[in-house]
Amino acid sequence: MSADFPDFTGPSETVPWVFLRELGAACDLRSTLNVMAAWVPKFIDVERVSITLVNDDGELDLLAVQGTKISPVGTTFKTEQTLVGRAFTTGKLANYPEITGSTIDGETLVAAGMRSCLVAPLSSVDRCYGTFNVASSQLGYFTADHELVVGALASLVASFARVHFEMEEQQQRARLDSLTGLLNRSGVMAELEERFDNESGQVCVLFLDLDGFKAINDAYGHAVGDKMLIDLSDRIRRSLRPEDALGRIGGDEFVVICDPDGDSSVGITVAERLLGECQQVLEVGPTTINPRLSIGVVVADVAVQTAEQVLTEADLAMYEAKKNKSLIAVANDDMRMRRDLVAAIDRDIAEAMETNEIHFLVQPIWEIETGRLSGAESLVRWTHPVHGPIPPPFLIERIESTEQIEQFTEWSLAAVGRQIVEMRRKNSMLAQVPVSINLTPQQLSWTNYVKIHLEMLERYDLDPQDIPVELVESGVVEVDTSAEATLRALAVENVYIALDDFGTGSNALGYFTRFHIDGIKIDRSLISSMIKSDPIRTIVEGLGSMARALDIQVVAEGIETQAELDLCRSLGVEHGQGFHLGRPMSFDQLAELAPMSARQEPASLHSSE
Ligand code: C2E
Ligand code: MG
Ligand code: MG
Repeated sequence: MSADFPDFTGPSETVPWVFLRELGAACDLRSTLNVMAAWVPKFIDVERVSITLVNDDGELDLLAVQGTKISPVGTTFKTEQTLVGRAFTTGKLANYPEITGSTIDGETLVAAGMRSCLVAPLSSVDRCYGTFNVASSQLGYFTADHELVVGALASLVASFARVHFEMEEQQQRARLDSLTGLLNRSGVMAELEERFDNESGQVCVLFLDLDGFKAINDAYGHAVGDKMLIDLSDRIRRSLRPEDALGRIGGDEFVVICDPDGDSSVGITVAERLLGECQQVLEVGPTTINPRLSIGVVVADVAVQTAEQVLTEADLAMYEAKKNKSLIAVANDDMRMRRDLVAAIDRDIAEAMETNEIHFLVQPIWEIETGRLSGAESLVRWTHPVHGPIPPPFLIERIESTEQIEQFTEWSLAAVGRQIVEMRRKNSMLAQVPVSINLTPQQLSWTNYVKIHLEMLERYDLDPQDIPVELVESGVVEVDTSAEATLRALAVENVYIALDDFGTGSNALGYFTRFHIDGIKIDRSLISSMIKSDPIRTIVEGLGSMARALDIQVVAEGIETQAELDLCRSLGVEHGQGFHLGRPMSFDQLAELAPMSARQEPASLHSSE
């Protein structure tokens, strides 16, 4: 006896009890119908039972048959060509006292020796799912009592069918994106997994990302943004074959799944077609937009990869296309190795923050003329137990991609704030030395950022000037209106704001008109080439005078030699940072540094790296 049922003796083995037990044990609609069909002849004296379901095209699927084997289970035929059609279309029980061979099912029944039949609709609420059919070899066999019993059994089956189809519809809905009607992330994963489970050979996945969508949303509002996504999904859909699957898995990220059919170049062909179709001017509401896409392409062997791996790979390829501005990038072995690394890193980030395996070093910043320690910059570090040191920009990119950036931002503010306090406790001469924090536009576009920053200052009893913000420009994300709002709000609170890597980004000068700037950090690439290049030397000198004219601070980054330091001084650059003046070190090591001359003793400076 099944453990799910009470262990009755006697009554538990009665016919209804065993019937109910079998029904309860059936795990899907097909087995439920089979149990029903098998049991009906034990309740009423009939020679043949069948249960049919009708699909959306009005076709009948013979799902369960008990008794004389006629057409095989799974046979499909149109309702109008059948005896069962009348019950199905009228929703009323049909009693046929004498069947003829004029319909498909009539013909098979007559051939099997049946002479009369009863067909009850599987109706529940406002829908008919199919029919419940019984047949006899006797003419005019079925009475009003039969009609009653068969009608009741049909209602029971209909309610099973209803639950089944409603659950199926719910699952379908849960897999659809409400804005575009395309598959959503779980729909895409389910579709991919199905192809990996059921197919051999290859699957082609394209990962599409719209460039600058956030800026469009910010500039024109969400209604325009939504309209653009809908129009774009129509364009993508039109460029695909009916058997290709399409989903939207993030705000502006689309995924196409197609069968390469032995042609591994199909991914590029489809990607080029999509670019051609989608990058045409789009009219949305009051404006026209030139959509720009980056597409990552993967053609994967289903035997050696998993759905999850392939999607990550396609994402990485898309990122590569975006970074190189190449529009399309195909996943390669390098990316595959990166994928495994990325998976390990993504998995371990949260725990590494918790255990402080991810931590901060600080690199000193000096006033060049006086040799006074004028500040320090906090720099994130993580040595992964298996993969070794992770380059900070890559770590930040992964933290952003895995949507852990808000936790990281809050955590890093607290970590830096706490260590500034400890450091100052160890060396009170550092009480006036600020320690800056690097922030990407994405970190700054977090609407809670200002609140978290101010709370942290309050918690550690720090002044706004104690933690300057260095605006790091990452390759792909620009300062949008919410990051801009954060920067303005920080300026109102007297938080010092510096533009990092100045001289490399394309937007840096434009920022001067958008928010208040207290300082610039001249990028290492300019510092390292100024000795050999006259124009670069002139630019660095110009940046020094610009900073003086605007009354902002200028720091030369990446000073590696005495010659570079001397040149910076002669060009009027006031502050310097670089390996020659001190490598990144722990807060404790910085605490051991009394404010002293970097120029006199660069070699003796401590370092963690
Ligand atoms: P950055 O903010 O411009 O930081 C300066 C980078 O130059 C640091 O690299 C530093 O170690 C390196 N550096 C300093 N002096 C020299 C030198 O003389 N020669 C050379 N070759 N390099 C020097 P690091 O720590 O690898 O960080 C790289 C970038 O990663 C940072 O550039 C910053 O953009 C980003 N980053 C680091 N920490 C964080 C963080 O906590 N949050 C965010 N959002 N970004 C961070
Ligand atoms: Mg920096
Ligand atoms: Mg920099």
